[in-house]
Amino acid sequence: MTAPWDVIVVGGGNAGLCAAQSARQEGARVLVLEKAPRQWAGGNSYFTAGAMRASHGGLADLKDLVDPDAQGRFPFTDLAPYTDDDFLDDMVRVTRGRTDADLARVLVGESRATMDWLRDLGLRFELMYHRQAYEADGRQRFWGGLAVGVVGGGKGMVEQHLAAAERTGVQMRFDSPVTRLATASDGTVQGVVLACGDVLESRAVVLTTGGFEANPQMRAAHLGPGWDLALVRGTPHNTGDGIRMALDAGAQPHGHWSGCHAVAWDAGARPTGDRELTNQLTRGGYPFGIVVNTDGRRFIDEGADFRNYTYAKYGAEILRQPTGTAVQIFDAKAAPLLRPEEYASKDVTSVTSDTVRGLARELGIDEDRLVSTIEEFNAAIIDSPFDPTVKDGSRTEGIEPPKSNWAQPLDTPPYTAYPVTCGITFTFGGLRIDPDAHVLGTCGLPVPGLHAAGELVGGLFYFNYPGGSGLTAGSVFGRRAGRSAAAAAAGRAR
Ligand SMILES: Cc1cc2nc3c(=O)[nH]c(=O)nc-3n(C[C@H](O)[C@H](O)[C@H](O)COP(=O)(O)OP(=O)(O)OC[C@H]3O[C@@H](n4cnc5c(N)ncnc54)[C@H](O)[C@@H]3O)c2cc1C
Repeated sequence: MTAPWDVIVVGGGNAGLCAAQSARQEGARVLVLEKAPRQWAGGNSYFTAGAMRASHGGLADLKDLVDPDAQGRFPFTDLAPYTDDDFLDDMVRVTRGRTDADLARVLVGESRATMDWLRDLGLRFELMYHRQAYEADGRQRFWGGLAVGVVGGGKGMVEQHLAAAERTGVQMRFDSPVTRLATASDGTVQGVVLACGDVLESRAVVLTTGGFEANPQMRAAHLGPGWDLALVRGTPHNTGDGIRMALDAGAQPHGHWSGCHAVAWDAGARPTGDRELTNQLTRGGYPFGIVVNTDGRRFIDEGADFRNYTYAKYGAEILRQPTGTAVQIFDAKAAPLLRPEEYASKDVTSVTSDTVRGLARELGIDEDRLVSTIEEFNAAIIDSPFDPTVKDGSRTEGIEPPKSNWAQPLDTPPYTAYPVTCGITFTFGGLRIDPDAHVLGTCGLPVPGLHAAGELVGGLFYFNYPGGSGLTAGSVFGRRAGRSAAAAAAGRAR
């Protein structure tokens, strides 16, 4: 029997839509099956800021990539090159040397070319002045190795992807949860089984169903006790389905199964993502204040590095605190540095007072404790000129934990506190793929007909993550997965 589809892609987020486009460019007949209804299109990709980390040669080099309409501020912009070596160093450094070297090299080496490919598909890019630059001497200075984002953030990205899919003839079916892979007796993947029991045949399958971050049972089982209580920042649909069905079909697990990306998240947020507020519930301004637990004690180095290199690991530190929550505290000097999208948007949970004691009372934290935490912090500061665009060396000495940069005394009322909890973004453990995005089996050889990309791939991220790498990884390996799935399908058609 002729399979009606050359390639079935399971999961319609960024990685899935990249895989679908790339298979389509190879001439494949492509169907994308998406578990969620149409109004929840785009998976976690919808909830993102659309920030994409890619190597580049500085501002001039980005002229071809950034939408011409978004280049108005280029003459007043300082943006240093971010080379392949810089990106690779960041991957190695934040993962404590554990990133899968073969996958990381592909991610880095193809990051820029893949952005160009996305642009040619119809995605529009801009420089992320609102997230990644501060004004200094009348110029916009970028920091943190991350500069480019999709116009309209994650919402824009999904809209632009769906429009591209329609243009190129990628077929999409929503409300179509896949529960199982259909395999031949020799293990070759021949299609998928839907929750309704229908079997859809194809010559190759690409899994892009995200991680298991929205599955409390898997979180507790793999990430550890307490993780079932974390709030989910994105889609409720990423429940580890693709990982489970691939393992059932003989795939090999890979990567940091007890690790995940998790951030400081509004303590009043709902259990799973909010389609309107999306990533605005993130609280990423902590480098300019202090963070205390509900005992009134600091527990992280708020200024260890640029936010891009610490935010993804600090959610776990918050979850470890006695109540699984914490409070970010800023004084009036820091207020202008907080992104209004995060700190002044609708329904922000916050408390303001003219005194630290008043703040403590409102928060239910021991007043004397919070006062002495702040007095000790202020007294420990070694002053040097404050500059948010570099690691400025304004630090503390003699307190634990230290604050290594941007340490300014909290002394200017009013003081504002933002209660936060742990918001999980995605999980790091997943399937082992080779650089062409074939899923490898437990024997180390490709599972015939099975390919994967995106969050459900393990091995790239351990302990931490350089901000903006998830969408790039999904795009680079999604593109490769689509290409290799189309080639596999063509081979099987012969
Ligand atoms: C709030 C937030 C902000 C973020 N910001 C950024 C950012 O700015 N930059 C960045 O690089 N990364 C960011 N990330 C991480 C980023 O979302 C992911 O790295 C990326 O979107 C993953 O893409 P994906 O295609 O693998 O998964 P997803 O986009 O989640 O797509 C997976 C899809 O699979 C579907 N699915 C699941 N199970 C099944 C099934 N059984 N059958 C059929 N379909 C199924 C889901 O419904 C979903 O649509 C952010 C994440 C969140 C939550």
